[in-house]
Amino acid sequence: MTQIKLILLGAPGSGKGTQAKFITEKYNIPQISTGDLLRNAVKDQTEVGKKAKVFMDEGKLVPDKLVLELLEARLAEPDCEAGFILDGYPRNIAQATDLERITEIDLVINIEVDFNLLVERITGRRTCKTCGAIYHIIYSPPKRKALCNNCSGELYQRDDDTEETVKKRLKTYETQTKPLIEYFLKKGKLRTLVSDSTIDMMRLKVESLLKETFY
Ligand code: ADP
Repeated sequence: MTQIKLILLGAPGSGKGTQAKFITEKYNIPQISTGDLLRNAVKDQTEVGKKAKVFMDEGKLVPDKLVLELLEARLAEPDCEAGFILDGYPRNIAQATDLERITEIDLVINIEVDFNLLVERITGRRTCKTCGAIYHIIYSPPKRKALCNNCSGELYQRDDDTEETVKKRLKTYETQTKPLIEYFLKKGKLRTLVSDSTIDMMRLKVESLLKETFY
């Protein structure tokens, strides 16, 4: 069976999660968002979740060991046999080397977005509590106010999507995550897509890159 093992790299608000959802539907491989894994741990008040929340609320990275613990457990689940899309992992060089010890990666898609757009995108983001669908109050509003188009679930704003925390998260990205671009480029695994148009245009760019790489 062909496996597709992908990493989506990009700043908060670059649209990684939105594109990951399309890839999941089309290729039938799971989206693994460490942010979602962490938010679930926080919600369930697990030991990892309790420790992680402090860092998340400050826009900092959660310690590598905690995230790795959640990730390893997730990758061991049977739906990952055909591959997966990592969304939000790795986020620093140490996590990239942790990952390489667990599994191989075929392709890293780096989504590049103009910095000024990011804050606006993130502070306008709303997520469905039930199915995780992502909206934006201006760019992709739901049909009914604060309700999901797919499942009528309630839309909410993430605790860390306030302007102050967003600025800190962007800084964390610049200093810790951006060096991964060079890291994967040197390994010959990185392709960069510039996100300068609509979600659908971006989707086409991602699809053609995947066709080129895997078929
Ligand atoms: P975004 O990419 O929009 O910041 P995420 O949902 O990926 O959103 O992450 C939210 C928060 O969860 C991060 O600010 C960070 O605190 C934590 N987090 C997510 N993934 C990781 C990771 N791989 N390593 C450390 N912390 C992480």
